[in-house]
Amino acid sequence: MHTIEMAEHYLIPFYKRTPLVITKGKGCYVWDEKKRRYLDMTSGIAVVNLGHRHPRVVKALQHQAKRIWHISNLFYQKPQTELAEKLVQRSFDGMVFFANSGAEANDGALKIARLWGNKRGKTKVIALQQSFHGRTIATISLTGQEKYKKGFDPLLGEIVFVTPGNIEELRQAWDDTVCAIFLEVIQCEGGVKALSKPFLDEVMRLSREKESLIIIDEVQTGMGRTGTLFGYQQFGIEPDIITLAKGLGNGFPVAAIVVRRPLGKEMPQGMHASTFGGNFLACAVANAVLDTMDESFLNRVQKMSQYFGQQLTELQKKYPAFLLDIRVYGLMIGIDLAKELPVAEVIERFLAKGILTLRAGENTLRLAPPLIIHEKEIQSFIKAFDTLLQEKQGRTA
Ligand code: PMP
Repeated sequence: MHTIEMAEHYLIPFYKRTPLVITKGKGCYVWDEKKRRYLDMTSGIAVVNLGHRHPRVVKALQHQAKRIWHISNLFYQKPQTELAEKLVQRSFDGMVFFANSGAEANDGALKIARLWGNKRGKTKVIALQQSFHGRTIATISLTGQEKYKKGFDPLLGEIVFVTPGNIEELRQAWDDTVCAIFLEVIQCEGGVKALSKPFLDEVMRLSREKESLIIIDEVQTGMGRTGTLFGYQQFGIEPDIITLAKGLGNGFPVAAIVVRRPLGKEMPQGMHASTFGGNFLACAVANAVLDTMDESFLNRVQKMSQYFGQQLTELQKKYPAFLLDIRVYGLMIGIDLAKELPVAEVIERFLAKGILTLRAGENTLRLAPPLIIHEKEIQSFIKAFDTLLQEKQGRTA
């Protein structure tokens, strides 16, 4: 049986998949079983930030694979400890817990907030409408989009949702019983939309006044994606907790929770754990990822971001009726499309041209290319987009 037929038979049909069997990747490109090449403008949903099979990451994995893979967190492990140090050095004075996925990291962050809050009579959590934090029961409870929650009742209680950017609603929701606010500085699944500076300033002010924790989900915005190592670093906000996954392992499953030192020290032994969390292979890979993402790497991301933004602005001038709004945060890009141009159709047309793209929000095209992308690949994307829009214009004229 062919892979697609087999998959339809054996895999629980939770995913709507593109009918491609991907067999290989290198840099910004992937290949299917028919050896057709695709330009990957998705990075496997903001994961393969260093590109497919980055040599330094491959080498680190191979090196570690020849020594030891796993022993459990009942013992000390050097790669894990070094990774924790690197994460702290590049965020804030803190302590780290390792997990395996974004949802697991967010769930753990919520548990940490609960342990902290319950001691202080604070049990309420504020989350934002349109947010996305994962697919476990706890994380869909924190997610502000109904489509992910339908059919899973009962969800966690005491989570209050606020409209992103609405300072009045934020003030009303934030009383003395709030233990934490959960947010993404840029809502990625929610349509690639950044929170406003005044809103985040008010989050800072209220968190101090009411003594509540700020938890920032950096699962998608982290690891260089937005041009700084972590997204929050561009927004003048000081989190108490950040969660990381996706790009941390460049495709190897690894996630982390970084918490401020006093909060970390307060956590009681035995109250949380993860079998695979921070294992040798995962940490060897993540160490290589962090070592690669130095200042000059991030500067280059910002340069490519500028270039991409300029090219898209030019395209928007040509097709203002189709491209309504363009938001560029590093190499996380959202393009709001007119309703005559459904995003599903655009993704399909790009696919026919050998380019993988993503959707977000209502009718937003999301681009998250590997951060190692060059002008050449950006140009070929823009050229394909131009042709696609021209074809569409010809048809609707
Ligand atoms: N948080 C955010 C912001 C995400 O974008 C995602 C995944 N799209 C998650 C959490 C969940 O991550 P995972 O699928 O690794 O559980």
